[in-house]
Amino acid sequence: MSEQKQQPLQVVKINENTYRIEDNGVRSLLFIGTEKALLVDTGFGASGSMKEEVEALTDKPVVLVNTHADGDHIGCNTQFETAYMHPAEMPYYYTTAKPDASVCPLWEGDVIDIGGRSFEVILIPGHTPGSIAILDREGRILISGDSVSETPVFMFGEVRSLNAYIASMEKLMKMQDMFDEIYPSHGPFPVAPAQIEKAHAAAIKLAADELEPQEPPFPIPAKMFSSDGASFFF
Ligand SMILES: [Zn+2]
Repeated sequence: MSEQKQQPLQVVKINENTYRIEDNGVRSLLFIGTEKALLVDTGFGASGSMKEEVEALTDKPVVLVNTHADGDHIGCNTQFETAYMHPAEMPYYYTTAKPDASVCPLWEGDVIDIGGRSFEVILIPGHTPGSIAILDREGRILISGDSVSETPVFMFGEVRSLNAYIASMEKLMKMQDMFDEIYPSHGPFPVAPAQIEKAHAAAIKLAADELEPQEPPFPIPAKMFSSDGASFFF
């Protein structure tokens, strides 16, 4: 395998008070309100300081929320005073991170108010037990983490559950009149809400053993399964 060069963190402005911070294939999001800023995820942690990037964009106090605890989303967590995540994600988080008082729970229906913008927590287990989506009701945006993406969703390994994932996609499908765009953690940005139905349909076929396994594009202990614009590593 040829050696991959790590790129420094790359900040991309989405609009006047919203940024995405790209870290070698994974994306963090920064929403700036009148009182606080919301940072969603902290990348791999190997390509510079997420905290420095965020502080260059805002002087507001930063609320850090993790969509889930896969290693590419928590890399710079310790640079921040508190990391909020769903309690169902904490056992998985603690398989790599040291349990300490800086981790705080965030529950289904909790609303994070940063001043003029508010964000609601939606529990969508499947990719991991405590994966969350975050709904910006005023901005009509759904932040999906890894669970809805045009790139393959990782569904192999101990913490994943395909049945829970299917139920979570059904939950999001019922909420589709509340958002116009999806902000995923990987791949093309943004993504259309129709991706949820695609993921749901493909996951049902995968669970029913109706999809042909393909070789994944990089070495992982899984096969790739695709159907109508959605795919999984399983
Ligand atoms: Zn990820």
